[in-house]
Amino acid sequence: MAHPVVDENLCVGEGDCENVCPTDPNVFKVDEIAHVVNPDACIECELCVDNCPEEAIKMTDD
Ligand code: SF4
Repeated sequence: MAHPVVDENLCVGEGDCENVCPTDPNVFKVDEIAHVVNPDACIECELCVDNCPEEAIKMTDD
């Protein structure tokens, strides 16, 4: 299953990914930056990719 990965060099911790992710549990947890904490919950909607203002999120199959 694909899931997101966050480029830690681009993320500024805005939190849009956590806000738009529709899953429960949320795929993301954001403190200073976004962390992918529940990758298996991802349904591959790519809302996080489309809504990240820093373009810091990519999808991966790893
Ligand atoms: S692709 Fe969709 S379900 Fe997966 S982490 Fe991004 S917003 Fe959440």
